[in-house]
Amino acid sequence: MTDRTIAIDTRDHGPVTVVCPPWCTGLHPAGLLREEIHHQGEPVDITVDTSRGPRRLIELTMWQTPWPVPSDRHSDDVHMVVQLLDGDAFGYDVQGLGALATDLMDAAAKVRRLSRRLACEHRGGEW
Ligand SMILES: [Zn+2]
Repeated sequence: MTDRTIAIDTRDHGPVTVVCPPWCTGLHPAGLLREEIHHQGEPVDITVDTSRGPRRLIELTMWQTPWPVPSDRHSDDVHMVVQLLDGDAFGYDVQGLGALATDLMDAAAKVRRLSRRLACEHRGGEW
């Protein structure tokens, strides 16, 4: 993958030029506000198997906003947007994503303990 340069007509700043990073798969349509322009990567789903097939737990998407609004805590840094089951999405920096991975490992440990507890119940409740 290589960088690509794109000219975008914005509603507030006229034509602007952005250089897409190699990971950007965004379309960059015309007619946005300049602050709405963002680069985004291919979404990565974290799924679980269910009796009705795989289901998504979370979706992670690499993201970068070349002209962020001042309140954007990620500024113009590349970060990961994580969309949860309820549809809400949150931005994570490197440390935050590491903490999310730890949370998911903790959650997996809870599921493992519940699996052992369920197995115990199947043996007649001997814990
Ligand atoms: Zn882009």
